[in-house]
Amino acid sequence: MSVLDLARPDIRALAPYSSARMEAQGGTVLLNANESSRPPNIPGGDGLNRYPDPQPRALIETLAELYGCDSDRVLVTRGSDEAIDLLVRAFCRAGHDAVIVLPPTFGMYAVCARIQDAAVIESPLDASGALLPDALLAAVTPAVKLVFVCTPNNPTGNIVPLDVLARLAGELAGRAVLVVDEAYAEFSGLPSAATLIDTYDNVAVLRTLSKAWSLAGARVGALIARPDVVGLLRRIIPPYPLPSPCVDAALGALSYEGRRVQRHHVNEILTERARMLAELPGVLGVREVLPSHANFLAVRFDDAAGTYHRLLAAGVVVRDITKYPGLGDALRITIGTGNENDRVLAVLRAGEVA
Ligand SMILES: *Cc1c(COP(=O)(O)O)cnc(C)c1O
Repeated sequence: MSVLDLARPDIRALAPYSSARMEAQGGTVLLNANESSRPPNIPGGDGLNRYPDPQPRALIETLAELYGCDSDRVLVTRGSDEAIDLLVRAFCRAGHDAVIVLPPTFGMYAVCARIQDAAVIESPLDASGALLPDALLAAVTPAVKLVFVCTPNNPTGNIVPLDVLARLAGELAGRAVLVVDEAYAEFSGLPSAATLIDTYDNVAVLRTLSKAWSLAGARVGALIARPDVVGLLRRIIPPYPLPSPCVDAALGALSYEGRRVQRHHVNEILTERARMLAELPGVLGVREVLPSHANFLAVRFDDAAGTYHRLLAAGVVVRDITKYPGLGDALRITIGTGNENDRVLAVLRAGEVA
């Protein structure tokens, strides 16, 4: 039994689109892709007349080194959002199969499933935000192909311990793929679930450069999984997912100097997170600040809607998460710069005297 037995048979049988760029190996006169032979006459235009490498070698190898895995386990995607979509489309037959999500959590898992007409089964986290392994496993039906676990979780900020993920991976083996979304892993300092892939072929890990690497605008994500899963998703990924300026931006951010700056920036966020976690509970109207392993805090207020509008009137936009189960009184506040966080505190404290 291979993890590919869980995938859609029609996708397994599909011949991938062979793009001109894939066939261009070794040539110097490139007349096979109907590109312009001349670069555009704009700053930074060199090379933009050519289609990009579908899976750029240098970036794949850099990400493999960064995430501590073999390069044949890495698929680069247009943000990890695209990896979520690819997984759902490769594993879930429309109208038949299902995914499990653990609310309150990131909304894209359910959105991608619904677009694919896959059923969405909910196995809620408990009131403290903890994953309940027995309840989750009891929710697994034969239709379930993917189980999405987000750690640190968006929007609560709590984590799922690696031993719990290992147990789930073992129990789900041969039944479903455990997808571990580690979009905020850099803010937790905890070990990645990528190490589980050695033991369990049904684990896939999602990483992104959008959060801790300051590259949300470049749309660079990665899926880490067994090479046969990577190969399966390559059958359905669009031919040129990553624009070459985005690949260059990613390589710059992941350079020696880029990493030095990133470490500094992440440390600054952790310091500011600790400061906000210490200060917010003392502000009138704040009920509770959920402890967070990510670059945001979920905060419960006596009057979440009023607080949201007061912040907005002062020019501060936070995320209203009151529609999430168990978070009817909460806002999600991203940790900004020291000055930005001071603005948040000032607006909230101004409400105390009003
Ligand atoms: C932000 C976020 C993503 C999306 O990341 P992109 O790489 O920008 O697509 C994925 N998962 C979670 C939980 C997120 O919060």
